[in-house]
Amino acid sequence: MTTTNARAALHAADPELAGLIDAEERRQRETLKLIPSENYVSAAVLEASGTVLTNKYSEGYPGRRYYEGQQVIDQIETLAVERAKALFGADHANVQPYSGSPANLAVYLATASPGDTVMGMSLPMGGHLTHGWKVSATGTWFRAVQYDVRRDTGRIDLDEVRELALAERPKLIFCGGTAIPRTIDFAGFAAIAHEVGAVLVADIAHIAGLVVGGAHPTPVGHADIVTTTTHKTLRGPRGAMILTTEEYAKPVDKAVFPGLQGGPHNHTTAGIAVALGEAAQPAFKDYAHQVVANAATLADELLARGFDLVSGGTDNHLILIDLTSKGVAGKPAAKALDRAGVETNYNTVPFDPRKPFDPSGLRIGTPALTSRGMGDAEMREVGRWMDEVVTAAAGDDEDALEAVIARVRGEVTELTGRFATPGLTRP
Ligand SMILES: *Cc1c(COP(=O)(O)O)cnc(C)c1O
Repeated sequence: MTTTNARAALHAADPELAGLIDAEERRQRETLKLIPSENYVSAAVLEASGTVLTNKYSEGYPGRRYYEGQQVIDQIETLAVERAKALFGADHANVQPYSGSPANLAVYLATASPGDTVMGMSLPMGGHLTHGWKVSATGTWFRAVQYDVRRDTGRIDLDEVRELALAERPKLIFCGGTAIPRTIDFAGFAAIAHEVGAVLVADIAHIAGLVVGGAHPTPVGHADIVTTTTHKTLRGPRGAMILTTEEYAKPVDKAVFPGLQGGPHNHTTAGIAVALGEAAQPAFKDYAHQVVANAATLADELLARGFDLVSGGTDNHLILIDLTSKGVAGKPAAKALDRAGVETNYNTVPFDPRKPFDPSGLRIGTPALTSRGMGDAEMREVGRWMDEVVTAAAGDDEDALEAVIARVRGEVTELTGRFATPGLTRP
């Protein structure tokens, strides 16, 4: 927790900026954070991330640095690495990537050359930019081929993935994504990668916390390389990790440093170590399972209220809503919900007829609300509020919409007032 003294010092030194942080803290406390890639870190993670470790340069790896004074930093990074290896059961861990996108770039650098064929899920179908989408460096420096979901099921069809892989012979196959509401079949992907001689990369940025909590199958043992952010369901600071088999340990380390990055962010490494320690506790298993249970309850409530969910529901923390049947686009719905204190993000849905900046969908998830201790009853209320606001936003009565937003905003404030927010300075 940012101590009261530290915050007071910031207020004295820079009242303008300190005031903005206070305002953001208030906003985070008083809104329902339904963005599936976000969470609340604990006071312990927050404290470790905001320390004097930010003062230190440590290019290299523990025991092999290019700067002196690494007596303590080496121990911190080693602690993070060992905790990551133990938690995921991986041979090797690199905790230095600045974030998820640079972690994926390091994997390309370690395993492929510009112009090589690579394969990933396309962005509008639920993949990530860095899985070869055309506006990303990964889509311009490599010959990226992309797989989709099936139009009739909204799910990945491994027969189609295999056919594409056999035809294109990619060097690298990415599985995982950013808007996938269903379990990923890592063994199935591994069989395909093995058959075509590709390196399999599982990007578990969204679901890492579910994996370590036993609420989603693990890719370790199937994928050659696993990348993950640390700030989503894993509930650490903004950062990333790469887990590998022995075979890819050296190339991946070399790709991260000196291939792509300079000095690691040691304050972040410390925050990651604390988060990994928390994720190893029995309580984190309960958390991961509650995230999934909450998403199932919320999906159930939304389905009962006539919402159309991509793939018909969810297996994990994430729900992708196709608003077409509600007669409103994603953006106006998300903006109305945000004004009511319900924070979501508008998103494309598979085969979206609308444009990416004005798509048909809403992407929501339960990791952050679950971190606040919310459960079944709260999920039902959230589903009701979403229905009320979206239905009003679909109509053309501005006054009626304003009235609904004002009422829901009041009810949301009442609810958030009853649940503590981890890490925030004031209760
Ligand atoms: C969030 C995410 C990333 C990228 O993480 P950043 O830290 O935003 O760069 C990469 N892959 C997937 C699947 C993600 O969901």
